[in-house]
Amino acid sequence: MSIATSSGSALDQASAAEIVAGLRAAFDEGRTKPLTWRLAQLKALRALLTENGPALEKALWDDLRKAPAEAQYSEIGFTVAELDDVRAHLRRWLRPQRVAVPPALLPASAKAVLEPLGVALIIAPWNYPVQLTLGPLIGALAAGNSVLLKPSELAPATAEVLGRLIPRYLDRRAVAVVQGGVPETTAVLAERFDHIFYTGNGTVGRIVLEAAAKHLTPVTLELGGKSPTYVDDTVDIDAAAARIAWGRFLNAGQTCIAPDYVLATAAVQAKLGPALERAVTRYFGADPKRSPDYGRIVNPKQFDRLAGLLGAGRLVTGGESDPSDRYLAPTVLADVPRDAPVMQQEIFGPILPMVTVADASDAIRHINSGDKPLALYVFTNDSRARRRFTTETSSGALGFGIPLAHISVHGLPFGGVGPSGMGAYHGRRSVEAFSHEKAVLTKPLAPDTIRLVTPPYTPARENLI
Ligand code: NAD
Repeated sequence: MSIATSSGSALDQASAAEIVAGLRAAFDEGRTKPLTWRLAQLKALRALLTENGPALEKALWDDLRKAPAEAQYSEIGFTVAELDDVRAHLRRWLRPQRVAVPPALLPASAKAVLEPLGVALIIAPWNYPVQLTLGPLIGALAAGNSVLLKPSELAPATAEVLGRLIPRYLDRRAVAVVQGGVPETTAVLAERFDHIFYTGNGTVGRIVLEAAAKHLTPVTLELGGKSPTYVDDTVDIDAAAARIAWGRFLNAGQTCIAPDYVLATAAVQAKLGPALERAVTRYFGADPKRSPDYGRIVNPKQFDRLAGLLGAGRLVTGGESDPSDRYLAPTVLADVPRDAPVMQQEIFGPILPMVTVADASDAIRHINSGDKPLALYVFTNDSRARRRFTTETSSGALGFGIPLAHISVHGLPFGGVGPSGMGAYHGRRSVEAFSHEKAVLTKPLAPDTIRLVTPPYTPARENLI
């Protein structure tokens, strides 16, 4: 049976069930398990990315006005690098891990074996619609699962290209794409999966977790939240500002791990504000609206939400907007009150508020008073302060001196903690996320050392029998 990719028209429950049944049949017959199949799929996925660069770049431009160079390093090339890492190491990662057996159990041998879970569902968001759809797919295929992919309907051009290309490159019996929004995802979520990997906001994360609970399906939730950035006066402020502005304004601020706000003393803000303005001008010119390298807000709903967050504190730079173009200038706000609306939700757009703190202790207290963030960034040369941020705060990731870049280190887990997510992926962890680690114990029947723990336990009782 070949699994058709659903397009446009609403997916009913029967169709969702049929698609999942097809994927399950492919898994059950063992089609996805051989290493050769997995490596062939990863190779084909690489070809999809490298042979269709222009089509993918165009889709990302249409959806988010992503510059082609940015589309390459943050999406297409990024995913190829992730693929190459997994392809290079997969054979080794899949090797059973021998573990020691307690002396009392000898002779015996024990090993942990990774086995695929079955049918995986991947629900992707719109902000990095190539990376965040295909990145989890790498792990699911490498682990030997069949996969149902649901790209985000809010990046429709990219969803269309992926929906068209994936069946052309990958095994249609084991990989299917479902298009659509809430009704289609709701229909899909009613089916039983063996793993669900969701990237997006925490509200939908809860819906996914509830749906998964009905079938006791394990989940990975890659969520968001406010990622704080602390800056003190021990660092080169211009250098720090350049990195923070890059991290905040990349993809017009629509990055889950972007610095969401800055915590700094009033004195540091006085220097950091103008330095951020200089960095913005360096990246996007005097009028970012005319820069080919500056993105747009994904849709009018998000634009209106963001426009409503302006106006807090003191405007350092930016503030201009054009709804007809969904353009919102890179905006920096200083002395923003902690209770301002812009500090009550994840910004997910090109607005960077700076909030005044007295010192590192005050910053740590503020961070710990909120949800555990997806990322925390710290710019300080004070080694004691670095140690304190490491041990006294909790976050998905901690970056000293650079935002975002931890995502490109294959050996680091990528994921949140608490409200910013559960589970992690990238590199070896992507394979583990979609695998069950099975315990395998082998003990010969002779000699019968088990006699030592079988009843009767006391010699006295033994004598009675
Ligand atoms: P989104 O609106 O595209 O939603 C993500 C997916 O959920 C889509 O496929 C969508 O169809 C589906 N969905 C939406 N509503 C649903 C519902 N009611 N029931 C079932 N499915 C539904 O993306 P988003 O949530 O706006 O993305 C932004 C959020 O994602 C931010 O909070 C951001 O921080 C977070 N994010 C996290 C990561 C990460 O890796 N941790 C990466 C990117 C984005």
